[in-house]
Amino acid sequence: MEKDKLIDGKAISMQIQEEVILESEEFFEKTNIYPKLSVVILGEDPASLFYIRMIEKTCKKVGFQFEKYSLSAQTKENELLNLIEQLNNDNKTHGIIIQTPLPRHISQNNIQKALSADKDVDCFNPINMGKLAIGNPSFLPCTPYAVFEILKREKIKVEGKHVVIVGRSSIVGKPLALILLLKNPDANATVTVCHSRSGNLANFTRKADIIVAAVGQAELIKADMLESYPVVIDVGTNEVDGKLVGDVSFEEVSKIASRITPVPGGVGPVTNMMLMKNTLQAAKNIVQNN
Ligand code: NDP
Repeated sequence: MEKDKLIDGKAISMQIQEEVILESEEFFEKTNIYPKLSVVILGEDPASLFYIRMIEKTCKKVGFQFEKYSLSAQTKENELLNLIEQLNNDNKTHGIIIQTPLPRHISQNNIQKALSADKDVDCFNPINMGKLAIGNPSFLPCTPYAVFEILKREKIKVEGKHVVIVGRSSIVGKPLALILLLKNPDANATVTVCHSRSGNLANFTRKADIIVAAVGQAELIKADMLESYPVVIDVGTNEVDGKLVGDVSFEEVSKIASRITPVPGGVGPVTNMMLMKNTLQAAKNIVQNN
């Protein structure tokens, strides 16, 4: 595969990391404050714990403060709400992540609403998702933000293009569609969103200039589902025989795609860095408004 076909998520993440460090140092010089991210987790889901370790490492790299609140999976909803209230009011915390999935006895809806919209750095609160839906976003959710940033930094034109997103989850597919529909020269796409009831996926993907796969099914997107050399962005992370693979059958699709992200090393590293960008933005907004 030609080298310039591959989109190097790690390199993009490093670029953003340097920018965040510079901006955060400037912010510190003015305010004497380093942004702080607080993460709340209930229970010990291994994938969630792994993700939180990655966030902690990324915070260290950019010099942000990090605090983890580990609660038992049996924690009552009102106890979690009390902790959220405490973090909402804590001047030292600028960003809050409530790790999902939450235990079944806790209403995700109540938790989402309780989180301060000003500290909601992964766009979990319905107010922030609503603002995105009406085209006036505060924070962009980190994974779709990463896809958007990758397209922008790789100078892949989105305006006027047909983007086919496979997957309609509230954390990836749906908000990504809203981002790409923004009236903004970096967006202004025509978007099709597919899901498990869309029927023959290839009918849609063959008409795409850009395909984004966010499904959670290993190698679902095959070479015969592509036409006209589209750009392919693979959000999926699936473990197969102890190996991380995407939703795209990389080996065959990379022969036809004009550009492609690998898994690992594509969207994942950029996602973590977008969380840092949002946390810095939250800190700046909070300081400015106080
Ligand atoms: P969800 O399970 O919440 O959503 C999956 C979506 O895919 C659903 O909309 C579902 O349709 C659709 N789908 C399932 N099967 C098919 C099919 N055969 N054809 C078409 N659509 C299908 O997953 P997430 O959005 O949370 O995550 C998607 C993937 O992205 C996962 O692999 C996850 O690990 C990864 N991920 C990666 C991140 C990163 O930073 N790299 C961050 C977040 C997620 P329906 O709605 O009808 O059920």
